[in-house]
Amino acid sequence: MKKIGLLVLIVTLAAGFFYFDLNQLLTLQGLKSGLVEFEAWRRDSPILVGGAFLLLYVIVTALSLPGAVIMTLAAGALFGLLWGTLIVSFASSIGATLAFLVSRYLLQDMVQSRFGDRLKAFNEGIARDGAFYLFTLRLVPIFPFFLINLLMGLTAIRALTFYWVSQVGMFAGTLVYVNAGTQLGQLERLSGILSPSLLLSFVLLGVFPLIAKKIVDLVKARRVYAGFTKPKSFDRNLIVIGAGAGGLVSAYIAATVKAKVTLIEAHKMGGDCLNYGCVPSKALIKSAKVAHQMRHAENYGLNSSEPTFSFKKVMQRIHDVIAKIEPHDSVERYSKMGVDVVQGYAKLIDPWTVEIQLNEGGTRRLTARSIVLATGARPFVPDLPGLDEVGYVTSDTLWETFAKLDEPPKRLVVLGGGPIGCELAQSFARLGSVVTQVERSSRIMRREDEEVSKLAQESLVQDGVIMLTSHRAVRCEKEGESKRLIVEHDGQESTIEFDALICAVGREARLDGYGLENLGIETKGTIVTNDYLETLYPNIFAAGDVAGPYQFTHVAAHQAWYAAVNALFGTFKKFRVDYRVIPWTTFVDPEVARVGLSEQDAKEKGIAYEMVRYELDDLDRAIADSAAKGFVKVLTVPGKDKILGVTIVGEHAGDLLAEFVLAMKHGLGLNKVLGTIHTYPTWAEANKYAAGEWKRAHAPQRILNWLEKYHAWRRG
Ligand SMILES: Cc1cc2nc3c(=O)[nH]c(=O)nc-3n(C[C@H](O)[C@H](O)[C@H](O)COP(=O)(O)OP(=O)(O)OC[C@H]3O[C@@H](n4cnc5c(N)ncnc54)[C@H](O)[C@@H]3O)c2cc1C
Repeated sequence: MKKIGLLVLIVTLAAGFFYFDLNQLLTLQGLKSGLVEFEAWRRDSPILVGGAFLLLYVIVTALSLPGAVIMTLAAGALFGLLWGTLIVSFASSIGATLAFLVSRYLLQDMVQSRFGDRLKAFNEGIARDGAFYLFTLRLVPIFPFFLINLLMGLTAIRALTFYWVSQVGMFAGTLVYVNAGTQLGQLERLSGILSPSLLLSFVLLGVFPLIAKKIVDLVKARRVYAGFTKPKSFDRNLIVIGAGAGGLVSAYIAATVKAKVTLIEAHKMGGDCLNYGCVPSKALIKSAKVAHQMRHAENYGLNSSEPTFSFKKVMQRIHDVIAKIEPHDSVERYSKMGVDVVQGYAKLIDPWTVEIQLNEGGTRRLTARSIVLATGARPFVPDLPGLDEVGYVTSDTLWETFAKLDEPPKRLVVLGGGPIGCELAQSFARLGSVVTQVERSSRIMRREDEEVSKLAQESLVQDGVIMLTSHRAVRCEKEGESKRLIVEHDGQESTIEFDALICAVGREARLDGYGLENLGIETKGTIVTNDYLETLYPNIFAAGDVAGPYQFTHVAAHQAWYAAVNALFGTFKKFRVDYRVIPWTTFVDPEVARVGLSEQDAKEKGIAYEMVRYELDDLDRAIADSAAKGFVKVLTVPGKDKILGVTIVGEHAGDLLAEFVLAMKHGLGLNKVLGTIHTYPTWAEANKYAAGEWKRAHAPQRILNWLEKYHAWRRG
């Protein structure tokens, strides 16, 4: 209501301005013809006229009315160079700031909520360099004054910053125009004020800060290298540390473009994903799912039976799966590609030198023009009293430790309700363990919408997981062979007896032991990088879990492209890493897959959205598979065919998501998904039906009403 009031006031004042023909007065001719009269007023009462002039100037600029240039000339003609400049300098900055505040008050929320996701990078740029951009714009008076005020109001720049940067930045331009005003009699046209050479000077003045900034950046970049002696020549173009997804892809790209590259891995080629993460966990999930299906075979018209199996064989299968995939990431494969693979522990000596503690013994030093750090992350182990005494496994140790067991642990505690904890809890419950999952917050998989957490929790509980949300692990105790976890809930402690404990409370980037500290490379939970994935040293890059902010294999591979390309070709062209469309899946059953915004995200960020849902209990294939559970939920820009985010819960959700990932990446909307033929009967049809729901919600009702009348008329 207040906004409407303000809008009405502005429109009324603007209408009055034109109604009383003030716009005629604020022309060069109008000014010239009225000048004698104005001067007489000024002579009679200089302070009053000066004050009134300042006020009028503020009103004209605050309302973004045309005439500021003429008023600036008038200031010169009436008050002379010194006072004219002083009055205009303050009046224009105050007026500009008022226009800025009006624009911010009326429009900023709307613009940010509508385009907030796309404006993210822009907002970050403004937060970082907004004052600088504004200064550059203000220096060059060819950029429309009122437009800068209104557009800046939509950004996140602080009002005070806007004010003083405007005042300083506009000073030179003000001086030129006020000076021109002191010779108003000789001035025939406005365009005459800015001669081509003066205009060029202004442009140069505007470009100067940009050039200065580049030079400052360059000097800053050089300064970090002070104290180091850069080698005259390098052994390699690129050294990559860590052979997980991030490192492998970096090395692969470098070898493909014929760079000389060394890839250093201290432990196993393939890193966490192949050896301790995605691959073994998905192999385990498959065995657990088969056991689950046997137990519920009556769903398919068969006799249900309690699965009997050798746990050793289940674990052996997991290691067989790893062994089958291993050749994809092997030393042999990468050596054939032209990558020099070295097995050993790497340490940064200086920005170009890496020392390797070779696994076979001895050390070796190599230099490279650029280095990619892809050293990954490791399980975070909380400082829980008694934990070491009772013993625990993490994703790093589980696969070896449990491979020695004849049976799954009878009573298993899973600490942590994130994706890894949930996948493992459900799998072991399905394989027969009595699993208690402990999560400190009020729900599991907190990153997803509440209804998603609820569905996932229901599934896990149905599979027998004892779910303790809002429970904090307090300590572990051991008495003889008996192991206990003490948890606290609502101020009350309770005890869980267990045989094995999986610690899955998150993963922390590997940041120590390989020279980051010595080189002063900044870390904040992960290695701090800029948009190009450069660390403090522009020739040292980071990719994957160690760089964050995501911890997925596909993101590590995605970042690796940017790290490797910027490392090798950054002198010519650098690419900003693009995080706009990042998908992920949690492989609980039913799977939870997401790309882009969830409802929770949209609300937190204040982004306006429309939502459509398609329930999988309606999908023919889901019914045929007796798996009619879950939904496809799509968020779109209100009134537009633009996808903001998709969450799918259901069987094959991770695979189904791919169509939406493609659509979002390439700017395709739901009309395009709907217009694409999907094979019947497939799970992928769910995507088409979700798009259909959206179409129905946006049906042109008025046209349809007319069509109804038309058809009635045709029937006679
Ligand atoms: C149980 C589990 C399940 C997961 N499931 C999935 C999933 O389904 N999908 C998904 O996308 N992601 C999943 N992840 C995450 C995924 O494994 C990681 O995001 C991915 O491995 C990150 O790759 P990276 O290259 O950054 O690091 P890593 O794979 O950790 O590789 C880093 C490598 O660097 C080596 N290294 C470290 N320091 C040095 C040094 N100084 N010198 C030499 N070598 C060094 C390490 O030995 C390691 O091999 C899962 C993770 C876990 C633990």
